[in-house]
Amino acid sequence: MNADRDTQRCSKLIWGAGPWPRQFGCQNRGSVTEDGKSWCKRHSPSRVKARRDALHARWRAASEAREATWQRGEALTAATAECIEALRQIARGQGEPVEVARAALARLDASERKEGTP
Ligand SMILES: [Zn+2]
Repeated sequence: MNADRDTQRCSKLIWGAGPWPRQFGCQNRGSVTEDGKSWCKRHSPSRVKARRDALHARWRAASEAREATWQRGEALTAATAECIEALRQIARGQGEPVEVARAALARLDASERKEGTP
């Protein structure tokens, strides 16, 4: 084996796909030097970290989007219940319809303000 050629190979060890556990050195040429070792562009520690960070950022954004969707659904359910209750009061002739509607809207506005603050 040529030592110079090996030092220019990527330092990444890769598990083989066969039935027995076996590691191989990455066959790509090392074009980046980091931590005193030679790496291909795919396996350089800084690029691996950048890809991992980007993946985690996408997972975090997707998780936050699901949480926001869930919270909007909860808020919509609560608002619907509030409106139905106001309509029932109006249908039963309880209170002045305009005042019942205003009171329901005020409670909705208050709950939206409460949810908006951490
Ligand atoms: Zn490599």
